[in-house]
Amino acid sequence: SSAHIGVTGLAVMGRNLARNFARNGYTVALHNRTVSRTRDLVRDFSDEGSFIAAETAEEFVAALERPRRLVIMVKAGAPTDAVIDEFAALLEPGDVIIDGGNAHYADTRRREKAMRERGLHFVGTGISGGEEGALHGPSIMPGGSAEAYDSLRPMLESIAAKAPDGTPCTTHVGPDGAGHFVKMVHNGIEYADMQLIGEAYHLLRDVAGYSPDRIAETFREWNTGRLDSYLIEITAEVLSHSDGATGQPFVDVVADEAEQKGTGRWTVQTALDLGVPVSGIAEAVFARSLSGHADLRSASSHLAGPAAAALSPDDAERFAGQVEQALYASKITSYAQGWNMISSGSQEYGWEIDPGAVAAIWRAGCIIRAVFLDRIRAAFAGRPDLPTLLADEHFSKEIGDAQGDWRTVVATAVQHGIPVPGFSAALASYDSLRSARLPASLTQGQRDFFGAHTYRRTDRDGSFHTLWGGDRSELSAD
Ligand code: NDP
Repeated sequence: SSAHIGVTGLAVMGRNLARNFARNGYTVALHNRTVSRTRDLVRDFSDEGSFIAAETAEEFVAALERPRRLVIMVKAGAPTDAVIDEFAALLEPGDVIIDGGNAHYADTRRREKAMRERGLHFVGTGISGGEEGALHGPSIMPGGSAEAYDSLRPMLESIAAKAPDGTPCTTHVGPDGAGHFVKMVHNGIEYADMQLIGEAYHLLRDVAGYSPDRIAETFREWNTGRLDSYLIEITAEVLSHSDGATGQPFVDVVADEAEQKGTGRWTVQTALDLGVPVSGIAEAVFARSLSGHADLRSASSHLAGPAAAALSPDDAERFAGQVEQALYASKITSYAQGWNMISSGSQEYGWEIDPGAVAAIWRAGCIIRAVFLDRIRAAFAGRPDLPTLLADEHFSKEIGDAQGDWRTVVATAVQHGIPVPGFSAALASYDSLRSARLPASLTQGQRDFFGAHTYRRTDRDGSFHTLWGGDRSELSAD
């Protein structure tokens, strides 16, 4: 018999995706560079469904029904290029290569073009949810031709996570790199969320004086409301965990140097190129980077900080409520920035990404899954041309209601010397966006002064330059 789909690259992600396809009734061809992984999978999981093990690339391709569909789940970067080249040589026009690795969207654009020129479909697919998601239902973000998506759709829908309303968490995001682009922004938003949660924890610990257990309890309570999300849920789990060896709170025995694999950095690099402000994601990436600079931190540990008294228990409780407001308002701002970035990328590359559909497929399966995403889906469903989430009536009302507490929390953090780059960058973004006038007019004056860069006026069309070194009269620069 022939296989409906094949998976090559059977490390944690590929193995679990292959099992997910098989558990959903598909016959799955298996291949891996090191043959023992293929054999292990068949030995351990053949009772879950129907697998065809292939030892060589040729056997693997021969096992697939036509048009052939094969998922590549190997290390991102050069290994992915090597594997694509190896298989492309064995495929025929109309066959579909799916790259489920964490590729940079620019690589996906390049690969899609190269495969299209050979008559092959290339579907660069973001997959979120880690190892567990791959097995039980990830959020799947495919980019590529509509024709290729149509041929994959039933399979992707059956293995994807299901949103609370039963909808599969996958959609045709857009052409070529669109899927990997939104996966990148997803990870950027994930960085920002984690940073904001970290700041909330820091404030509850050092300003409110709460223990990790008490903070876990607070997060559990928040998780029953509008902040209900996977990340808040696991935060409570991590905070209530005690270290087996020392009996100390786990969070106190772990080195406070955060690591990163690069997707947050890609998001910020791309945002800079697109000229779209994603300050929340940028602050999150920089905060991780700062935490890892042990040298700078130890050389700065003598620096003076404020003398601020800890809050009384009553004040602490009120403050915790305010932190929830600040966290929620910052989260709305951060997601608005993420969606602005999706919209910029979509415009830049002509992808026509449906912003509501992206929110819909992040409702389950992925790391940022949350009740909140259904609200974003609804905001765009009501108004697909919404220029930004902050323009949505519902979110602007909620953020307006939260802004007083948000300011109190940022001010209190500053007074206590607790760094809140995420909360304060979000608030600065909010205040900048709602300002009638920004000091950018002064910046334009400075640029015109030292570089004759010209400026526009509020009262007349055209470009102008002032003769700063002369009689300071104004010239039309058009
Ligand atoms: P790894 O990224 O650790 O990659 C290991 C796999 O790549 C093995 O099957 C390995 O084969 C294969 N491989 C490496 N180099 C080559 C090569 N030159 N030629 C052929 N095969 C090669 O595996 P993961 O399962 O963690 O991830 C797979 C992909 O999914 C990656 O792109 C990753 O970024 C992405 N991803 C991972 C997530 C996760 O949570 N881990 C989440 C979402 C996406 P061999 O066994 O022979 O060494």
